[in-house]
Amino acid sequence: MNRSENPSGAGEHPPFGVSRYYQALARSMDPTVDPIAAQFVPQDDEHRILPYEDSDPIGDRRYTVAPRLVHHYADRALLLVNDRCAVYCRHCFRRHFTGYGGGRITEAELEAACEYLERTPAVTEVLLSGGDPLMLGDAELCAIIDRLRRARPDCLIRVCTRLPVVLPSRITEALAEALGSRRPAWVVVHANHPRELTAEFRTAVNRLLRAGIPVANQSVLLRGVNDHVETLQELFSTLIRTGVRPYYLFQGDLAAGTAHFRTTIERGLELMRELRLRMSGLALPTYAVDLPDGGGKVPVESALIRIEDAAYVLRGPDGREYRYPREMDVE
Ligand SMILES: *Cc1c(COP(=O)(O)O)cnc(C)c1O
Ligand code: SF4
Repeated sequence: MNRSENPSGAGEHPPFGVSRYYQALARSMDPTVDPIAAQFVPQDDEHRILPYEDSDPIGDRRYTVAPRLVHHYADRALLLVNDRCAVYCRHCFRRHFTGYGGGRITEAELEAACEYLERTPAVTEVLLSGGDPLMLGDAELCAIIDRLRRARPDCLIRVCTRLPVVLPSRITEALAEALGSRRPAWVVVHANHPRELTAEFRTAVNRLLRAGIPVANQSVLLRGVNDHVETLQELFSTLIRTGVRPYYLFQGDLAAGTAHFRTTIERGLELMRELRLRMSGLALPTYAVDLPDGGGKVPVESALIRIEDAAYVLRGPDGREYRYPREMDVE
């Protein structure tokens, strides 16, 4: 743990914050009726923390190898370059870090990360995350990428950002060109609802695509936001038409105070079955879950071994069995 994190452990919430652009997409400010409002308006339910929930549900801390550098998967490392976001999603799973005041990565932290990458050739891809890396200015962002590239000229850069969805004007021609001249690089965005796929979003994506930056999307399966087959179908089919590959649909992580957002895994599997009947394979993401206790990401459909009364038992990448709690659907 470092000074940029909340030392108190479980129970914290992201701060409140929303861009004017994203707020304007909401038709009502009631998070119980509007799928956009639900993502940024805090609800009382956030204060209900279940015993197995945590502020670090996917085990970032356990895999932290240098300040802000998480090395969990053999060939990929994740660098938390900034703690700021344009919208603080109420379902955010990186609650031990996001919006906590750590700010942007320091020179010393970046040097330490680069030293680690230099002596760890197995890593061939660096994910820039946070917080949102594109909340940094172009110059700061480029300086970070260029420093990483000096350490590892060959590595792929994956920029994980919600800004094309929540603040699309941030994707200027200049930013797209700056990223385009720093390839190989991908951008992975986070859209959860078809109403987020506006003309402004398409413009932002087009700029990236024209600059030679492929774009993928990660969604989180969220109760009351997108847990209906028509909603997901429209989301994924619009993404694919925009040139954005639906990559993951995540089962909700066991982040502190997010139980009201989670659906059952049965529901997720049923949605995937239905989508598979209706949609092009190109438009279908992998339904994935991050196993508790830092077990890692697995595709639910192939990892699920059995369903017990109180838990789903899934096979982790290490071959061990992991339990994800089985919660009752309260629809
Ligand atoms: C999710 C994640 C990755 C990337 O995993 P992919 O399956 O390649 O998307 C890398 N590092 C960490 C710590 C992660 O949580
Ligand atoms: S944009 Fe990403 S990091 Fe920021 S609050 Fe939302 S989910 Fe968390």
